[in-house]
This record gives sequence, structure tokens and C-alpha cells, in this order.
Amino acid sequence: MADLFDDPPPSAVPPPVQRAAWLRDELARHSHAYFVLDAPLVPDAEYDRLFRELQDLEAAHPELILADSPTQRVGAPVQGGLATVVHALPMLSLSNGFEDGDIIAFDQRVMDTLSRDVALDGPVEYCAELKFDGLAISLRYERGQLVQGATRGDGSSGEDVTANVRTIRAIPLQLRSLAGPPPEVLEVRGEVLMYHADFAALNARQRAAGAREFVNPRNAAAGSLRQLDPAITAQRVLRFFAYGVGIIEGASLPLSHSAMLDWFRQAGLPVCAERAVVSGAEGLLDFYRLIGAARRSLPYDIDGVVYKVNSFARQRELGFVSRAPRFAIAHKFPAEEALTTVLDIDVQVGRTGAITPVARLAPVFVGGVTVTNATLHNEAELRRKDVRIGDTVTVRRAGDVIPEVVSSLPERRPADAREFVMPASCPVCGSAIERPEDEVIARCTGGLFCSAQRKQALLHFAQRRALDIEGFGEKLSDQLVERNLVQTPADLFCLTLADLAGLERMAEKSAQNLLDAIHQARATTLARFLYSLGIRQVGEATAKDLARHFGGLDGVLAADEAALLAVRDVGPVVAHSILRFLAEPHNRTVIERLREVGVHWAENQPVRASGNASVAGKTFVLTGTLPTLTRDHARELIEAQGGKAAGSVSRKTDFVVAGDEAGSKLERARELGVTVLDEAGLLALLAMPAGTTDDQPVLQPGEGGTMNQNTDQT
Ligand code: NAD
Repeated sequence: MADLFDDPPPSAVPPPVQRAAWLRDELARHSHAYFVLDAPLVPDAEYDRLFRELQDLEAAHPELILADSPTQRVGAPVQGGLATVVHALPMLSLSNGFEDGDIIAFDQRVMDTLSRDVALDGPVEYCAELKFDGLAISLRYERGQLVQGATRGDGSSGEDVTANVRTIRAIPLQLRSLAGPPPEVLEVRGEVLMYHADFAALNARQRAAGAREFVNPRNAAAGSLRQLDPAITAQRVLRFFAYGVGIIEGASLPLSHSAMLDWFRQAGLPVCAERAVVSGAEGLLDFYRLIGAARRSLPYDIDGVVYKVNSFARQRELGFVSRAPRFAIAHKFPAEEALTTVLDIDVQVGRTGAITPVARLAPVFVGGVTVTNATLHNEAELRRKDVRIGDTVTVRRAGDVIPEVVSSLPERRPADAREFVMPASCPVCGSAIERPEDEVIARCTGGLFCSAQRKQALLHFAQRRALDIEGFGEKLSDQLVERNLVQTPADLFCLTLADLAGLERMAEKSAQNLLDAIHQARATTLARFLYSLGIRQVGEATAKDLARHFGGLDGVLAADEAALLAVRDVGPVVAHSILRFLAEPHNRTVIERLREVGVHWAENQPVRASGNASVAGKTFVLTGTLPTLTRDHARELIEAQGGKAAGSVSRKTDFVVAGDEAGSKLERARELGVTVLDEAGLLALLAMPAGTTDDQPVLQPGEGGTMNQNTDQT
């Protein structure tokens, strides 16, 4: 079977006719798995690669183009189960662009076509939107009532999912009445999708029930919508954004796409706020970069942005090709998943001894970088995914997240693929590897005897959020441990110029700089100090809670379980971990030694029991660049007064502190009507006398220009 699925070897590249036939079959097989079964076999990038190859082949040999080629069609034909709906107007796909050049060429094509008949009076106006990674749906409203929901299917006919669509809360069953009677018929088109949080909850439920987990939110959304039993759809949280129109009778459309989206919104249909009307290729590329930067803060997946010529009259002039409109293009982000092979699997030892299996990969370009290693998390995950040495696997790298192996492709497994065997002893120090029964993570039992753990412990101790030793990195930590210059973090403070100058790539000047940095790091805060110790379960936030609660180190060292449980957000697991750490005499010695070598902080800083009432217990989100404060500094100031700094804006956010180039978080704050402060506003709030209450706004909108309560919902 393998030769059916694998690319033929390069030496045996068949003549175009055979190659085209192979590509058509392969694409049809993948389309079926993706569109019909909602369970793709390969990453999208692999599908796109095969699709482009077929397109290029057909462009060079037009005689190879068949009516049923995937390049001429949309999606996959509907399969049994649900009733069929014939679309009055076909639901098409979109052409794709990946590089800036593709978009510049698109804009040029649009201008060339439009200027054939009339002289253009400037750059073309486009409506730029997000490309939601969900599935397309058509909603038919008759006199304002929802009467039908249908999937795209193969573009000419789709599946009748009316009963399922009715369970999606985001979709109005009745359109809001606008001026005048509602259109006789209005077919709204848009995307059904699933938010990350809802996807994670669904998969957790599937896992608990022993049911199949979904590969990604898109397939989960598609699988949930295309259920025969609407009761199942109703249990899944699906969302919807409107972005297009099909047939309309008994009313006329606004003149532009952007005006139509506003009109939809007024009629009660959800329309995404992240959209803009822009001019020419430059405007398109600016939008792409803006969204690219904000992409991670969106609560759902997008795989690019979509540009549509804004004027409907111009759209009509441009028309369609076989499977997509000429007036629109999708500008895709670089793929975050790709295929490669596992050359080997070995293990890495982390700071707390955690043993992580790591796949060594044939180099692959994914998420904008070349990846050669990817985590397999732990043995149970590795077995669940059934990843073997020699396997072809899907690797994912999204943003700055560590690359991971998502799945293996058993059908491409070579006969000599080998299973990974978890070593019984640590490959670094030889100590036993143990896995407590109730934990999934195996650990090296060597503690700081294990040089791998020592290196990681030093790096953790010196990192920016801990003692913040500037210039201290992996290479340095490796050398200090390998040359036995440092056993515990306290030894760092006893290093001499001679010790450092003997290290690789360390000139005297940089050795002196490092010594100075180590010296400077002696003055710290209790929270940073507690965090730097690397106690399991004690992250930055818990360290801050402990410092605030106890005020001094001795209080922490003397605390028993009950005292620890009295700290905000400390539960039994965290309390036990702290007690276990402190019960180890070796750890107490390190703490003492650190004090002896001069690590210090201001003890017993006054903890305001109730804090500043305008700040205590409030949630802040920082975004953009503030004029004088760094984000860390601003966060520390907020936390010192009992406030919390969060990463994303939600209805629970009390304040968004926005600096220059604040992006989607600011937008979101505006959407939700969250109070927005600038730096001066934040500082004023921090200086507020205690006792200001929730319902007494501390600053009025516009006062001093430092705060604005946004009510603009558009
Ligand atoms: P597409 O997904 O690239 O583009 C068209 C679709 O974009 C529309 O149908 C609509 O659903 C969606 N869309 C999202 N936001 C939109 C907006 N603002 N305006 C208009 N449309 C918007 O094309 P396609 O033909 O649906 O499918 C091809 C995609 O599916 C490719 O990304 C391909 O990689 C993937 N695919 C993957 C496999 C696989 O095996 N992994 C198989 C088949 C297809």
C-alpha cells in the first residue's frame, strides 16, 4: 500500500499524465478525509503542496485538465446521512497567496481588469477580513426567519444542517428588523468555528468518555455541525461569523461589501470586529502584518486574511474563475504544521528531573523556522500517538511555542520502524529514573547531583524573571557545571575573574561584565528570590503571593501546611510541594548560603491588608509600549497593591493599560467596554488613597486624558 501513498522516488518521476492522475487520486483521498470524515490524514501544508503541484502541471499541460480535477472543484461531494441542499448560487472557494508578491500581483490583476473599461481614479479599495479556520455555511432567511442552514459541500450542493444550526446560539433565528420590511429571501454566508477554550473542553470530555479526540478546532467544528443528531451539536459550543451573501430577493444590497457587513451587524448577525477598508496592495500588506502580530491573542484559529474588492459593482466586473472569485484572495500565514521523519528519539532531563522524550527530526521548515527537534511531552503521550523511530510525523510549531509532534502517519511507516524504549537510568548522571504511579512524568532521581538538572537550575535561577543576571545563558551554564565551578546557585556569587576568563569565548571584558551583573543581582525582591529557587509548582504568581503574604523569608521557611494554605491561590498540591522542598536539608543549606553570599531584599515590606481598593483584586491587562515603565515594572507595581496582571482581555478584565502600538487587546477592550488607561492613568490609580470603592470611578473619561471608558461597540 505504501507506494500508493508516498511520493514516487525522484528517480522514477513518472510522465505528467501518470503524475497528474496520482495527484488527483491523492488529493481526492485527502479531501474526503478532511471534508467528509472531518479527520485529515496530513497537514494542510502537505495538501497545499500537492494541490500546487497539480496546478503547475495543468498550467504546463492544459490537456491534462479534467472537469473533475480538484483544481476545478470545491470541497468534496456530499455523502449520505444528511439531506442534500442545492445552492441557488454556488458556494466557491478562494484563490490563495502566500508571499507579498502574490498579493501585489493580485492587486495588479484587479487594476488591469478594471481599467480595461474605465479609467481608475486611484488605488482599488478592498475590504480586508480574517480568514477563519472553520467551515463555510449558508443560512437562508425568509422574511427575517431562519429557514435553512447548509454546508458548502462540493460548492453546488451541500448538506442540510438546519436543525443543527438552530442550536448555535450565535446564529439569530430571527433577524432584527431594520428600516422597512425584511428581505423576502436573504442568504447569509459565513464560517462556523470553535474557540480554543471550547475545543480544549470538548476534547477533555471526549477523553474522559473514551471517545475519539479531534485533531484541531476546525475539524471539531465541522464534526460537530455535521451530526445526524442535533442534540449532539447542541452540546458543542460553536460560533459563527458572517462574511458574505448568496441570493437576496425583495431588497437591495448596500453598495459595498463593508457596508453589507455593517448592515448584517445591525440585523443581529455576528460580524468580526477585526476588519478594515484599505487601499491598494500596500494597505492589504499592512493589514496582513497587523493581524499576523495579533493572531495569537485571538480566541480562535485563523489561517490567514481575506481581501475582497469592496465595491459590489466592481466585484461583478471582475467575476469568477471555475472555483473562486477573481475579486478576492486569501493571504495565508506560513503553515504551522508540516510533515517530516523521526530520525531518532532520545530524552532530555529538565530542571526538576522531568524526563521528556524528544524526537530528532529530518530538518523541516515550519512556523517560519527550520525545526530539527520536537517534544513528545511524556511516554504516555508518545504511546498514545504511537510515534516510532522512522515514522513520518506531523510537526507543529505555533508562535514561540516549543515544536511538538502532533501525530504519526502509520500508513507511511517503514518496515524497520522501531519503538522507543524509556531508559531505566538517567542518560546524563546514571541515577535511576522513576515514575510515581499517579504521575505521567518520569523523573531522574539524581537531584542536583545530575549535571543536567544543575544546568537547568542555574539557568532558572539567573533568568530575567528570577534573579535576572544579564548575559547568563545556556552556554555559560553548561561550562560552569561541566568544569565543576558551580555546584549550586550560591556558588555563582563566589566566581572570580580568573574562573570566568578561563571559559570559552569569554574575553576579560565580558567576564568583568558578567561579574558585575552577578553582583548587581544580589539585590532582589523576596518574590523573585522564592521563584528563583525552582520549587515545583511555585511559579512567578505563587512566589508573589507567598512574598506578599509572609512579607519575609523566615515566615515562609517556618510555615506549616495550614499557614501555607492561608495564602491566596495556594492549595494542597502547592503547599505539599513547598513543604517537600523545604524538608530537604540540602535546599535549606542553599538558601542559607545565598543569604551568606549577600543575596538580599527588603524584608517585611508593608503588605496592605486590603491594598489600594482601586487596584486590589482588580485584573489588569498591559498592552503596547508604555512611555517610561517597562511592562514588568508596571506589573510589579500593580501586584504590589494586590492587583492581578492577566494576559488576555475578557469580560472579567477591569482595566486595560495601553501604550504605543497597542493592538488587538485594545480593540477587544473597546468591544467589551473595558476601561482603558494610559501610563499616567495607571500611575494616578496606583496613587489613589485606599478606600475608593468599585462604584466610584477613580477618574472620569477624558479627565487628564488618562482614561477612556469605551462604549463604542463597532
Ligand atoms: P480555503 O479554506 O483555503 O478557502 C475558502 C474558504 O475560506 C471558504 O470556503 C470559507 O469557508 C473560508 N473563509 C474563512 N474566512 C473567510 C472570509 N472572511 N471570507 C470568505 N471566506 C472565508 O479553501 P477550501 O477550498 O475550503 O479548502 C482548502 C483548504 O482546506 C486548504 O487550506 C487545504 O489545505 C485544506 N485541506 C486540507 C486537507 C488535508 O488533508 N489536510 C484536505 C483538503 C483541504
